[in-house]
Amino acid sequence: MKNDYAHYISQTAKVLQPSGIRKFFDLAAGMKDVISLGVGEPDFITPWNIREAAILSMEQGFTSYTANAGLLELREEISIYLRTRFSVEYDAKNQIIVTVGASQAIDLAFRAILNQGDEVLIVEPAFVSYAPLVSLAGGKPIAVSTSAENGFKVTPEQIEQAITEKTKAILLCFPNNPTGTSLNETELIEIAKMINKHDLLVVSDEIYAELTYDETFTSFASIDGMYERTILINGFSKGFAMTGWRLGMLAAPKELVEVMLKIFQYTTMCAPTMLQYGAIEALRNTFHEVESMQKSYRRRRNYVVQTLNNIGLDCHTPGGAFYVFPSIRATRLTSEQFAEELLMKEKVAVVPGNVFGESGEGYIRCSYASSMPQLQEALKRMQRFIEAKGVSSNN
Ligand code: PMP
Repeated sequence: MKNDYAHYISQTAKVLQPSGIRKFFDLAAGMKDVISLGVGEPDFITPWNIREAAILSMEQGFTSYTANAGLLELREEISIYLRTRFSVEYDAKNQIIVTVGASQAIDLAFRAILNQGDEVLIVEPAFVSYAPLVSLAGGKPIAVSTSAENGFKVTPEQIEQAITEKTKAILLCFPNNPTGTSLNETELIEIAKMINKHDLLVVSDEIYAELTYDETFTSFASIDGMYERTILINGFSKGFAMTGWRLGMLAAPKELVEVMLKIFQYTTMCAPTMLQYGAIEALRNTFHEVESMQKSYRRRRNYVVQTLNNIGLDCHTPGGAFYVFPSIRATRLTSEQFAEELLMKEKVAVVPGNVFGESGEGYIRCSYASSMPQLQEALKRMQRFIEAKGVSSNN
């Protein structure tokens, strides 16, 4: 056997870049007293009733595989959830799969629809997994860049400019990671017209649906004419504070679900059984907790946006998720330099915007899913840092 493993590694895996977020986690992990605004996960523990339901299922000995698509009882709850919260009808028996996180649902969607060289439009700045998952499925990710001037909203014209005869699908994620931007129904209708005109499929990542603050959330599948074109992706990680459970869901027209299920049954078999019991409880009895977490994020968003603007970092008010995406251009640093120096000098970890695509350069992502005292301290340190760079505050 050769010791040079490069010889054995596939070309596809070789060209895959490690996530830019990891680098900062690793750097921060080796340091003391770091306040991390870097992670994209709730600071809440999963509500007790959900944990208890999973424990109870173990006590009762529910330790076997479930149906590939997940417990029917859970799929029925998901079907009710999607109908009552988002006005979209999906049949529990043949239109829903319980996946291992939204991450796996996105992977399945691309694997099911892409041929070699098919293009997928990705609205950027974007969650770091999309482009690699498109590439792993043989497709070609094409960036559609948005900008702060427009609140990082994508326009139908921007989409149309990126379309070629190879474009098969578009990935939409609103509320967005990293910008927090959400689109209202009117804006989504305009995008839908473009999607119809060019006969595209839509992978709609609605993982932040429960974390929308100013306007009601609209599921893309509920827009006229889009149900047939949409693979709806959602999950338990964010709204229900269940990141470690690795439970997600996808819902789509049954012809597409059949294909995704075919792949899923070989790669995964089913999502973990005991955790699916927890998810049933989440959908039945947790909405008051979900709402109070949402309110708490909204309070923190308001505080963080106002403070960032006061200290001299321009920041639009995001409509959802738990991220802000302020401009750091006033410091004349690149986003990587800013994140690295801030970490070294003031021990605050943020994510440089360029890891989310070229249009993220000049920005940083800060998660406000941290306690108020931590946020206050982090912002104090950031103020000190940027003052040392000669940026004056608006206080
Ligand atoms: N989509 C987006 C936009 C995300 O931010 C994340 C998590 N950071 C995911 C999907 C993955 O979620 P899950 O934990 O359900 O795999």
